[in-house]
Amino acid sequence: MLHDKGMARKQGRPAQAKSRIVAKLPLACADEDAAVAFLEEMRWGKDAPACPTCGSIGSTYPMLNRKTKERGPRYLWRCKAKGTDGKKCNRQFTVRVGTVFEDSKIPLRHWCYAFWAACASKKGVSALQIKRQTGLSYESALFMMHRIRWAMADDRDTPPKLKGVVEADETWVGGKPRHRHKRNRGRYAERKVPVMVLVERKGDARAMPIERVDSGTLQSAIVENVDPASSTLMTDENKGYPAVGRRFAGGHFTVTHSKGEYVRGLAHSNTAESFFSLFKRGLIGTFHSVSKRHLHRYVSEFEFRWNTRDMEDGERTMAAIQKAQGKRLMYRAPKKRPA
Ligand SMILES: [Zn+2]
Repeated sequence: MLHDKGMARKQGRPAQAKSRIVAKLPLACADEDAAVAFLEEMRWGKDAPACPTCGSIGSTYPMLNRKTKERGPRYLWRCKAKGTDGKKCNRQFTVRVGTVFEDSKIPLRHWCYAFWAACASKKGVSALQIKRQTGLSYESALFMMHRIRWAMADDRDTPPKLKGVVEADETWVGGKPRHRHKRNRGRYAERKVPVMVLVERKGDARAMPIERVDSGTLQSAIVENVDPASSTLMTDENKGYPAVGRRFAGGHFTVTHSKGEYVRGLAHSNTAESFFSLFKRGLIGTFHSVSKRHLHRYVSEFEFRWNTRDMEDGERTMAAIQKAQGKRLMYRAPKKRPA
């Protein structure tokens, strides 16, 4: 039952998606030629890509070493299109152009491996582990992992709104482990950040760090992400919810956790709590400490894995890599250490 919607999604996907290309992933993690071929095929299919400068199709070719006829260490492509003025375009580019891989010299096989590792583990993978397994520096591994998280993040400009039975809940993360407990929250509140999750039962989740847990903040997060006209809201007794709850066509149901009530018929927030339980085990077990500044990236990562939970690991990895495209231009990283 839990995965009804997921099954539907799965069956609706074209069969070739779980395809031969997934089978090439393990080799792509170990061999640079294979990694480049893998990413090129994922991105461009079997055809030569369109030129990123002049846009012409059918005029690009991979540059080969004259003697060996093999591709060079940079895996360059070149465009031989001629403009109306008779001048050659001559643009050189690689599969990295316009993706989160751009501006990095990290071999693509390590990117493939890191994407796979992040997608194959329920709780994520730490930069330290990637450093050990790839031999990259810790800084490079961290850079890569942050960009992977950023690739996984949904574009929130026009997301379809959640609907159906939607559970809302919030939790506090950050601070030292001994200060994470609810009763100690007040004193160390400044070190902790509230994170909110909105989750469709049997469906997608949207999670986000929020400024504070008050009625206004909870309300605007809900209004931005949920369609109240076709939804029912499920929450705990937090006083921030009733105002927005009145907008829900399906009504607003609460359980009173403080009185030991966790489920009353259909009223519960167990789905939201499962999300947080994975998230917190990941933060504590895998990442140990996460700064406020980067918290939203980890939130995106867990949200992505949640929303693709019906996929197999290889397929999820492909989905994440696919999302790595088109992200580069929006991203302004500081020169030295990427955020
Ligand atoms: Zn061109």
